[in-house]
Amino acid sequence: MNSEEFRKYGKELIDFVAEYMETNEKYSVKSTVVPGDIFSQLPSVPPDNPESFETIIKDFHDLIIPGITHWQSPNFYAYFSSNNSYESILGELLSSALGVHAFSWETSPAATELEEMMMIWLRDMISLPNQFVGVIQDTASTSTLCSLLTAREQKFKKNPLLKRSEISNFRVYCSTEAHSSIERAVHITGIGKQNLVKIATNSDFSMNIDLLENYLNNDLRNGFIPLCVVSAIGTTGSLAVDPVDKISEIAKKYDLWHHVDAAYSGNAMILDEYKYLSNLVKDCDTFVFNPHKWLFINFDFSAYFVRDKEALISTFEILPEYLKTSQGNSVNNYRDWGIQLGRRFRALKAWFVIRSYGVSGLKEKLRYHNYLAELIYNKVVESNDFELMAPFFMNLVCFRFKPDDLLNEDEINRINEDLLQKINSTGKLFLTKTKLNNKTTLRMVTGTTRANEKYVLDAWHHIERLAQQYKN
Ligand code: PLP
Repeated sequence: MNSEEFRKYGKELIDFVAEYMETNEKYSVKSTVVPGDIFSQLPSVPPDNPESFETIIKDFHDLIIPGITHWQSPNFYAYFSSNNSYESILGELLSSALGVHAFSWETSPAATELEEMMMIWLRDMISLPNQFVGVIQDTASTSTLCSLLTAREQKFKKNPLLKRSEISNFRVYCSTEAHSSIERAVHITGIGKQNLVKIATNSDFSMNIDLLENYLNNDLRNGFIPLCVVSAIGTTGSLAVDPVDKISEIAKKYDLWHHVDAAYSGNAMILDEYKYLSNLVKDCDTFVFNPHKWLFINFDFSAYFVRDKEALISTFEILPEYLKTSQGNSVNNYRDWGIQLGRRFRALKAWFVIRSYGVSGLKEKLRYHNYLAELIYNKVVESNDFELMAPFFMNLVCFRFKPDDLLNEDEINRINEDLLQKINSTGKLFLTKTKLNNKTTLRMVTGTTRANEKYVLDAWHHIERLAQQYKN
C-alpha cells in the first residue's frame, strides 16, 4: 500500500469507525455465529500473491463483523464494560504509526515521560498518596502477577536464610469472591494454588477479617509462611469492598505484602463521593485499576501503582550489554517495571482522553452511569417478580427473577439460567451471570460510552417481558 492508498482506505475506515460508534446498536450485541463458523470461511493457507485492500475490507465486513460481540454497543451489560472513545482510538492510531517500543527512556523519551506524567495524573485523580508511583501494564492480571512476584522476591531478600524450596510453604490470602487472576498468579509464581487460602465473606460479600486472622494464626502454628494478602475494592461478582484499611493493619502485624485489586471500581475513585475508598487503600503495598474498563481509554491500559519502586525494579531488573544506555538509572526505564521488554506507547491515548474530557467530564460520565444503574435498581426493588442479590453499588445491579410462587432454590436457579439464555439469544441485550451464595445471579453493568436512559429502560422492559413466560 502506498501513501495515496493509505489516505483513501484510511478515510474510508475512519468513516466506518465513526458510523460504527454511532450505530453499533443495530448489530446483534452478542454474536450469533456457532463455533467454527468463522474459521471454516477462512482460507487454510495465506495468499501467495498480494490481494487488493478492497477485497480485504469487504471480507472484514462479510466475515469478521458477524463474529463480533459488540462491547461498545449500548446494549452491552455483560462482565464489566470496557468502554472506549474517539480520542482513545485516535491515540491508538498515532501510537501504531509511531510504532515505538517504550522500554528504555532513550527508545522514546516522550513515551516514557508521558507515561510517567499520566500515572501521576491518574494517581492524583483517584487520590492515592503521592508515595505511590505508577506504570502502565496490559491487564490487571499482569499487575497482580507483578505484585506477587515482587512480594515473593522481597520475602527472600529480607530473609536471606530462607531457602528457595520454602516457597511451597508460602501462603497467599484473598476472599472467596476475589478474581481468578489471583489464583492464576499464585500458580505462576510457583507458590501453588494449594497455598491460596480463600477466606469466606460477610453477608455483603466482603472478606471476613476475623477468619483471615484465624487462618494466619493457624498457618503460623503449622509452619506455613504467610506471604501476601490480596484485597478487593469492587469484586467481580457484586462490587463488594473488603475492609482494606483493617486488612492493611493485619498485613502489618503479620508482615504480609498487601495488594489491592480495584480493577473496575478503582475508576470511580475519581469521584468525590468515593474518596473514602482512597482512604482505605493508603497503607497497601500495591494497587491496580483498569482505566480500560470504565475511563474511556480503550483496552489495553491497566494502571499499576507501587509504594516501593525499588522493590518492583529489583524483581525484574536484568541488564544485558545491548540494553545499557548512557542515562542509566537517572531516568525511568520501564523495561524493568514488569514482565515484558517491548511495550506499546499507551500513555498517548490516556493523554488524549483525559485532556479531551477533562476530569470533570469523566466524573460526569461516571456519575451518569451510576444514575442509570440506579434506574434498574429501583425497578428491581419495586418489582414483585425480581429481587436484589447483593448490596447495590456504583453501576452494577445484581438481581434474579423470583416471583412469589417460586420457592425451590434449584428451580429458581434453573429458571434464571434459562432466562439469561433467552435474553442473550435475542441479540437485543447481553448480560452475564455469577453465583452469589450459590444462587444464580444476573449482573447488569451500565458502563458503555453510549449508555443512556432509553437503552437501559428498554433493556429492563425486555427482561421483564421475557420473564413473564415463567409465571404460572
Ligand atoms: N480483578 C477484577 C476485580 C476484575 O473484575 C477483573 C476483570 O474483570 C480482573 C481483575 C482481571 O482484569 P484483566 O482482564 O485486566 O486482567
